[in-house]
Amino acid sequence: MESCDVLIVGGGPAGSTLAWKLKAAGLDVLILDKKTFPRDKTCAGWITPAVIETLKLDIADYAQGRVFQPIRRFVTGTIGDKAVYTNYVAPVSYGIRRFEFDDYLLHRCGARVMLGEPLKSLRHEGGGWVINDKIRAPLVVGAGGHFCPVARYLGANLGADEQIIAAQEIEFEMSVEQQRACQVAEDRPELYFCGDLKGYGWIFRKGNFLNIGLGREDNHKLAEHVSAFCDGLKLQGRIPSDIPTKFHGHAYLLYPLAPRQLVEDGLLLIGDAAGLAYPQSGEGIRPAIESAILAADTILAARGQYQRAQLEPYVVQLTARFGKRLHGAIPAAPGRFMQQLKQTLAHWLLRREWFARHVVIDRWFLHRQQPPLPS
Ligand SMILES: Cc1cc2nc3c(=O)[nH]c(=O)nc-3n(C[C@H](O)[C@H](O)[C@H](O)COP(=O)(O)OP(=O)(O)OC[C@H]3O[C@@H](n4cnc5c(N)ncnc54)[C@H](O)[C@@H]3O)c2cc1C
Repeated sequence: MESCDVLIVGGGPAGSTLAWKLKAAGLDVLILDKKTFPRDKTCAGWITPAVIETLKLDIADYAQGRVFQPIRRFVTGTIGDKAVYTNYVAPVSYGIRRFEFDDYLLHRCGARVMLGEPLKSLRHEGGGWVINDKIRAPLVVGAGGHFCPVARYLGANLGADEQIIAAQEIEFEMSVEQQRACQVAEDRPELYFCGDLKGYGWIFRKGNFLNIGLGREDNHKLAEHVSAFCDGLKLQGRIPSDIPTKFHGHAYLLYPLAPRQLVEDGLLLIGDAAGLAYPQSGEGIRPAIESAILAADTILAARGQYQRAQLEPYVVQLTARFGKRLHGAIPAAPGRFMQQLKQTLAHWLLRREWFARHVVIDRWFLHRQQPPLPS
C-alpha cells in the first residue's frame, strides 16, 4: 500500500497549483488523474495576467515551443449586430493551449503523479482514506473538474440540482489555406453575446490554432445555437468554411450558484469541482488556481489535523475572495416585459464603446477590479 500526506484527485490547474504549494512546504503529495498527460481540456485557453502572477509563471521558459499569444484587442457585440472594436496599448491577456499549459504546470509542481488512473473507490479507514485499495492518505482533495468523483462523494447531485453552463468548443490547427481564409486576428479574440443574453460565442486565434465555441445557461438546443453561430461567421467570411464539425461539450458551475459542499472530515474541493467560474465570463482557470492557493494556506495551517472544523477556514477565505454563495436560491426570473426591456437596454449598451471597454472587457472578462492573489 502506498501512502502520502495529501492525495489530489485531478491534475488540472487547480490540482497542480495546490500540489506546487504543498510540495514547496515539504508535504508528500500524490496527484491521481484518469488521463495521461499531455491531454486536451475543452477550453478557449484564455488566461489573464493575474493567473501568470499568482502562478509565478516564467513566461520566457513557458513560451519556448508552446503557444503563448498576447492579446491586445477585442471585438465584442451581439450575434448578428454591429461589432465594437476595443484596443489596448499593451497585452491584457494571453492565449494558451490547455494541452500544453496543464502539462507544463503538472510537471513543474514536482509532486508524485499517478496518471491514467481514475478514482474508483474511496473508503474511510483508521481515521484516513484508502483510495483505489492501494493508496492511504489523511486528506483527499477533489480537483477533478465539474464531474469530480470527490464532489459526488460529498453529495453533489451532478447536473440534477445544479444550474450549469453548458458549452461546446473546437480547437484545431489550421491548414495554410484555412489560415488565409481566416479573418480573425491573432491578438484579437471576438466575443458575441446571444440575442437572449443567456450565453456567448467566441472565436479565438492562437498562432495557427483556431478555437471556436459557445456556452449557454442551459444545454437546451445547444448544438443548434453553436451551428447557427458558426454558419453566421462563415457567411461573413470570418472563419474558414471547412472547419471541423465535431465539437466537444463540457459543463461548469458559476460561483454564486454552485451549491456544493466544499469540506468534510479529510475532504476538500477546489477549482471546477467546487464550482467557482466567474459568472459573466465563465473564466475558471483563475478561480481554480486561487482556490488552490487558499486551500494550501488552510491545509498547511491544519498541520495534519484535517477534521471539518480545521478545513472550514478555507470556505471562509473563499467567501471573502469570491463573495457569498446563494446556496441554490436562484433569483426569480423577471417578467416578460422586464426581460424584453433588459434585453433591449443590454443590446443598446453592447453597441457602446465605453460599455464594451469598461464593463464587458475590463470588468467581466479581465476582472481588472480584483488584484491578483499573492501566492
Ligand atoms: C468550453 C469551455 C471554455 C472555457 N474557456 C475558458 C477560458 O478561456 N479561460 C478560463 O479561465 N476558463 C475557461 N473555462 C473554464 C476552465 O476550463 C475550468 O474552469 C478549469 O479547467 C478548471 O480547472 P480544474 O483544475 O478545476 O479542472 P480541470 O481542468 O477540469 O481538471 C480536472 C482534472 O481531473 C481529472 N479527473 C476527472 N475525473 C477524474 C477521476 N474520476 N479520477 C481521476 N482524475 C479525474 C481530469 O482528467 C482533469 O485532468 C472554459 C470551460 C469550458 C467548458
